[in-house]
Amino acid sequence: MTTLTNLLDLDSEGLVAWCGQLGEKPFRARQLQRWVHQFGVSDFDAMTDLAKSLRDKLKIHACVTAPAIISDHTSTDGTRKWLIDVGNGNAVETVFIPEENRGTLCVSTQAGCAVNCRFCSTGKQGFSRNLTVAEIIGQLWIAEFTLRRTKGEAAGPKGERQITNVVMMGMGEPLLNYEPTIAALKLMLDDHAYGLSRRRVTVSTSGVVPMMDKLGLDCPVALAVSLHASNDKLRDMLVPLNKKHDLSELIAACKRYLAYAPRDFITLEYCMLDGVNDSDEHARELLALVRDLPCKFNLIPFNPFPESGLKRSAAGRIKAFAQILMDAGIVTTVRKTRGDDIDAACGQLAGDIQDRTHVQERMQRMQDYKQKYGKDFGRIVEIPG
Ligand code: SAH
Ligand code: SF4
Repeated sequence: MTTLTNLLDLDSEGLVAWCGQLGEKPFRARQLQRWVHQFGVSDFDAMTDLAKSLRDKLKIHACVTAPAIISDHTSTDGTRKWLIDVGNGNAVETVFIPEENRGTLCVSTQAGCAVNCRFCSTGKQGFSRNLTVAEIIGQLWIAEFTLRRTKGEAAGPKGERQITNVVMMGMGEPLLNYEPTIAALKLMLDDHAYGLSRRRVTVSTSGVVPMMDKLGLDCPVALAVSLHASNDKLRDMLVPLNKKHDLSELIAACKRYLAYAPRDFITLEYCMLDGVNDSDEHARELLALVRDLPCKFNLIPFNPFPESGLKRSAAGRIKAFAQILMDAGIVTTVRKTRGDDIDAACGQLAGDIQDRTHVQERMQRMQDYKQKYGKDFGRIVEIPG
């Protein structure tokens, strides 16, 4: 039996090459790509402007298969979260955050994560595996066309775009799953697929320095860097990758990236941890660190989980910290919590569902936490810029 090629695994170049093997011209590949990514169609017979002979070939050789959805929840504030099955008991999550003039999708790039940041529950789960192109772009495909259907629009050319921005801030370190991430990014930007502007697609990284340079050359989208510390000693503890690429290397890489970036600043994410990295002194140390780097700060109130042993900084502390940065002329925002009631949090719940045989037990644990602590333990979803 021949294995079917999943067209969601192919970026534009790949699809042209694959169609070439079937004896089809590049414009056919573009038509096909539009059916799949702009109209959300997976049934080849519905692709009415393709010749019957091509449709027949496609039925024999190809499929359009997005990963399966385990659950789909919408929060009272409109935030919607899908838990996506990526096989072997692994699940990742995708979160849609609607706002007045934009809709942002937070996507995952790995099941688990090897970086193991001290404050991140995904990291605590360890690394399971890299997602494929189909699993990464499939999250956008699922979200975009489910949202259209929810609005009562049939899949097809007339649908109005629901997702205007994508942030790679779900589970995993995108730059440690480089090739599939790039292919998925290219599809997001492709005019025959999702046609998003580079400014509206953001990769968030914990600081994989060599890959930041490569990203600038291969696909320069907006960049967010998870800084979280103002000196190496602290960052070594919070983001273990810092031992490999320290702050001076990281800041230098951010500066280099600006030559390619679609925006004239880098977003720096900083998780506010009570008594760990949130003093006035830390803020002043940060100012010195980023002195020559055009940047914006996004302060993320830590979303605690019981095993972390860490606490979120108090609101007043976060405000005072932000004020020091702003007084020095740096645009600083504080990430707001969305979708609290459905745990709409990149990384959290999915990490707990790594072993599907224990789903019920783990769901129960989440409920128990909720009862005990009075809230969900989702991480917070944010849109930079
Ligand atoms: N691996 C990438 C992208 C995914 S994490 C990275 O680290 O940048 C997306 C953001 O969520 C990162 O800034 C990360 O530091 C932050 N984050 C992780 N765990 C968190 C938690 N428990 N509370 C608040 N933010 C968290
Ligand atoms: Fe991985 Fe990012 Fe979590 Fe660090 S914060 S463990 S890099 S997902």
